[in-house]
Amino acid sequence: MSRRTLTGTGATPRAAVGTVVWYDRDSDLGDPDETSVDPQTELERFEDAREAARAELEAERERTAERVGEQEAGVFDAHLQFLDDPQIESGVASAVENDLPAEHAVKRAFADPIEQFQDMDGRMAERADDLRDVRDRLIRLLTGSERVDLGDLPEGAVVLAERLTPSDTAQLDPDRVAGFATVTGGRTSHAAIFARSLALPAVVGIGDELREVEEDATVVVDGETGELCLDPTDERREEAAAASEVDVRTDPVSTADGRSIEVAANVGQPAELDGVRAQGADGIGLYRTEFLFLDRQSPPDEDEQYEAYTTALDTFPDGRVIVRTLDIGGDKPIPYLDLPDEENPFLGERGIRRSLDSDTELFETQLRALLRAAADGDGDLAVMFPLVATVDELDAALETVNAVATQLDAENVAHAVPELGVMIETPSAVFAAPELAARVDFLSVGTNDLTQYTMAAARGNENVEALRDPTQPAVLRAIARTVEAAHENDAWVGMCGEMAGDPDLTELLVGLGFDELSMSAVTVPDVKAAVQSIHTDEASAHAARALDAATGEQIRTQLDE
Ligand code: PEP
Ligand code: MG
Repeated sequence: MSRRTLTGTGATPRAAVGTVVWYDRDSDLGDPDETSVDPQTELERFEDAREAARAELEAERERTAERVGEQEAGVFDAHLQFLDDPQIESGVASAVENDLPAEHAVKRAFADPIEQFQDMDGRMAERADDLRDVRDRLIRLLTGSERVDLGDLPEGAVVLAERLTPSDTAQLDPDRVAGFATVTGGRTSHAAIFARSLALPAVVGIGDELREVEEDATVVVDGETGELCLDPTDERREEAAAASEVDVRTDPVSTADGRSIEVAANVGQPAELDGVRAQGADGIGLYRTEFLFLDRQSPPDEDEQYEAYTTALDTFPDGRVIVRTLDIGGDKPIPYLDLPDEENPFLGERGIRRSLDSDTELFETQLRALLRAAADGDGDLAVMFPLVATVDELDAALETVNAVATQLDAENVAHAVPELGVMIETPSAVFAAPELAARVDFLSVGTNDLTQYTMAAARGNENVEALRDPTQPAVLRAIARTVEAAHENDAWVGMCGEMAGDPDLTELLVGLGFDELSMSAVTVPDVKAAVQSIHTDEASAHAARALDAATGEQIRTQLDE
């Protein structure tokens, strides 16, 4: 194939050169033959395929649990459930009654459920990927087509695929795979999130043109620019090779004039911890514990949570691990928790609101596990509460912590009360920041939500993406006010939203006064390098100028300069 560059969405700021291995090009079943089929035979074929799929899924579940972790393996439980879904089952039965061969019946039976999930927001939309995964597996088994084994790829493979589903990505061995590129998918697709947690170069959503790329072609996959270069020049290859040599700083860093800045990473799963260490993070700045509750039939009990939290603390014996209590609702529903059907879930029962109301038992169990882990784990635990909007909510949460400590005392169970903090994610929390900060050890700014609520621009809504910019003056001033309120009330202040991981903004954030920044693991090396080049007086002047700006455009121009 001639030299050219395809573009999509970069998923990870990493680049690599490698050789194309096609995983699957969308297998178009074509129209069914005119010849009539015997419904009974087709139903039996479907049953056989379902049995074979079940056996495959169980084997893959086991392999993933061993190689990646029990949490990641959980996705296969969801697939096994879909396999037995009564709606799918009756859809297949009625399609074969209407003379469709089993593989076409499967395609038809999955179409509606996939469409329904696809139209939902955030993580629910990812369920559409899970359903496609199950559908494609059944069709493959029914048509007897072969597929590359993702667990056994040649060294330096760049995997190209229509899409990579959760069970696909869990099979990839990051030590052998150079990167991947997909026809569909966006920055928040499973595949992109996975690429970031493993620091794997990846470009998603390239579109139809990707299908023309030939097997064995040499390509550069550049997750920073979102480019896939076919038949790259020597210079482009060298650039990619140089970009893949990341300068990881494992020690804590300070600015050029000696101010220490803690640079930590965000995680959602125990299996990400090793990757986080490998990128040189000082600790965990945001442990999104809701991931421990997803893709399963019932919540993890106290002991299972205790294990997860102590594992994190033992991974950072000299560091700090900030665990956020359960943040569900909004775009993070959990099927077994009977969440209300709300017109606007982002403005409904989310985060701390549920912990203090419908989920008090879960909250107490989580706090018991956390207080026990605080006493037993190697590193320093900190706990923070999500989506706090009022001082009363914080007071109630702190009271619950005290009650749990008293209970553990009475039971003679070893425990300790960790550092406690509040996430600043709502404009109301910004206005209440002095009173909030006076009650806790730290504040942590969640810019993903703070930006959506300040700008009234929903996460995941592409139509208002331009407004969802944390360098808008209103958001920046809210952030500055939070930092000031924290320091005036003897609390330290961090940031754990996506903004913290942009090395182009590090000087601005240090200038605003942040003590800690937490981000996707893959951006830790670049942010650490940025910190070391900063002079705090220059950074403060830069921040003051940005706070004076009237428009986002002015701020961006300043940043470019
Ligand atoms: C945030 O809102 O910025 C945040 C870090 O929390 P999450 O992205 O998990 O909502
Ligand atoms: Mg949030």
